[in-house]
Amino acid sequence: MALYSTRPAAALVEDLVTANLILAGQGVLDAFGHVSARNDAAADRFLLARNMAPGQVRPEDILQFALDGTPLDAGDRRVYLERFIHGAIYRARPDVMAVVHSHSPAVLPFTVSRSARLQPICHMSGFLGAGAPLFEIRTAAGDGSDLLVRDDRLGRALADSLGSASFVLMRGHGSTTVAPSLKLAVYRAVYAEVNARVQAQAMQLGDPEYLTPKEAEAAMASTEGQVERPWALWKAQAQS
Ligand code: MN
Repeated sequence: MALYSTRPAAALVEDLVTANLILAGQGVLDAFGHVSARNDAAADRFLLARNMAPGQVRPEDILQFALDGTPLDAGDRRVYLERFIHGAIYRARPDVMAVVHSHSPAVLPFTVSRSARLQPICHMSGFLGAGAPLFEIRTAAGDGSDLLVRDDRLGRALADSLGSASFVLMRGHGSTTVAPSLKLAVYRAVYAEVNARVQAQAMQLGDPEYLTPKEAEAAMASTEGQVERPWALWKAQAQS
């Protein structure tokens, strides 16, 4: 009985597979990076693929983890080293139902620039109005780390940097996106990358005008209410 009470909905597992394929297809994930969803049947567990390239994930590759990163049903299958990113955020943020960790290339310059700050440049990325804090791993790990969030202590430090935002930059590494649903997490991860690309272009032209905090909030409400549309398109593209 206990076994079945913690089994996630089949639709959630299916959507998580689709999220992996979409994010790989959109260039947010490549051979590395990962996306997880909180177990809809047990809030103290999350679902994440075994250690593999996201573009090749199938339903049987989805594993369950405790929020401290302990694999619950992996058997002899290898798991992602940076799974602590996901668990620590689910623990710190009960509102978060999905997490994307990415090394996407347009975002990376904003993790290392000492002066440029990632900001909402267009209405599709209003969620960035809640801030794009920077996680400096040196503060938690000291000098000489490999920059990876390889244990729960570093996961907690990352979750602290994220705070109440939807997106956190990771210096010299990448970013992590969170959302109250899996589809929104995918949407935000895609548009964080778009925003970074467009913002860098606008900065080359010079002195961009960004969305105000109020515009960002209003734009977020309108665009994110339509998340089913991009999801349907990206899903079809990922499966063709
Ligand atoms: Mn990483």
